[in-house]
Amino acid sequence: MASSTKRVFIESLGCRASQADGAAIEASLAARGYVAVGDAGLAELLVLNTCTVTQAADVDARRILRGWHRDHPSAEILVTGCYAQRAPEELAQIEGVRWVVGNSHKTEIAELVSGTREDYHGQVLVSDIERQNSFLASPIEDVQQGRTRPNLKVQEGCSNRCSFCIIPSVRGRSRSAPLENVLEQMRGLAGRYAEVVLSGINLGRWGRDLPGDLRFIDLLRAILRETSVGRLRISSVEPMDWSGELFDLVAGEPRIAKHVHLPLQSGSDAVLKRMFRKYRTRHYAGRLEIARRLMPDAAIGADVMTGFPGETDAEFAETVRFIEAQPFTYLHVFTYSERPGTRAAEQGASVPVGLRRERTRVLRELSERKNLDFRRGVVGRVLPAVTLEQRGMALTSNFLKVEMSAARVSNQLVELDIECVIDAGLRERSLLPVI
Ligand code: SF4
Repeated sequence: MASSTKRVFIESLGCRASQADGAAIEASLAARGYVAVGDAGLAELLVLNTCTVTQAADVDARRILRGWHRDHPSAEILVTGCYAQRAPEELAQIEGVRWVVGNSHKTEIAELVSGTREDYHGQVLVSDIERQNSFLASPIEDVQQGRTRPNLKVQEGCSNRCSFCIIPSVRGRSRSAPLENVLEQMRGLAGRYAEVVLSGINLGRWGRDLPGDLRFIDLLRAILRETSVGRLRISSVEPMDWSGELFDLVAGEPRIAKHVHLPLQSGSDAVLKRMFRKYRTRHYAGRLEIARRLMPDAAIGADVMTGFPGETDAEFAETVRFIEAQPFTYLHVFTYSERPGTRAAEQGASVPVGLRRERTRVLRELSERKNLDFRRGVVGRVLPAVTLEQRGMALTSNFLKVEMSAARVSNQLVELDIECVIDAGLRERSLLPVI
């Protein structure tokens, strides 16, 4: 085993699944005696867990790696994650990078850096992710101390082939954490955290690859029945996986956060078709209609992409009109970015980058307006929330940040009386008497 006092600094870029992977890597290194530190300057080992969803994500990763080597030349650097899987040789050429480990081998990182993997002495460890059938996440218990709202990743990869998306080629086919493993981890987390976020790359597909014809809703029911988790938040489920049954469960169960997130990508059917998305706007609108009818106060969010190849002014205008008409409370807007190896990147008809950015700006403004209307609508109400590690702040079940009137211990379920809208979200009514 390696020196028992090595210190490691881990940075994870990208989505919640990537953050969960970072926590899993931290746990596996901790089991081999590595101590995680919060400052790269104190560490002998630096781990960058990358994202490759856009060109900007790649640029970020390269910038961080160069900065690490410049500022901490004696530290060993390991790069892993989606960028490492997609273009390992590109990363291996960056000065100071000691190892590049693809998603295909990320569970072997601890063995590799501690020198116990004797059969391997090279720099790049990547293989075909399509052949990966196992679920790669390690236990995340004991590594999220002091944080609130830990992420429990229960599903990996995606078997869809949306034409813009690099994820299937860097994370492989959809596969699920076995039910018993999820329950065991959830029991551990439930004792320590008020809220746990369930995440995955295509979360609604959980169970399809497991024996017993299990569905995502079976997982939710089992968690509610067999663990004491105080609040469960579902990170994101594809529109067609939001069944009526799933909406009914979320609406009727006080322990599930009133928060539904359905990736939209475009409000134009022609663009959805070119993206190889499996639904059309009428299906999507039907799902939101059910969500709003069952849960008048729920957060309703979507991912939307601007500047997909060939997106015309008229198609973008359709998207704007569609979003305006829907009960969204927030949007995550992404500017399309060509990813080598995806069908969309080979399609041509690219939209000028300036126009893509302008469309992103328009949708972000629309999102802010919708969010402001939503916040105004909850003033004067009492909302369930969880207190955050960020001092004086809480997050409501319906995904709004609240500045509390008095500091409370983090990681508690509370009820907050909302006084007004502020820039950061909402403010709680002060309990102090007005003099
Ligand atoms: S559903 Fe489509 S966009 Fe989402 S991860 Fe799968 S391929 Fe990518």
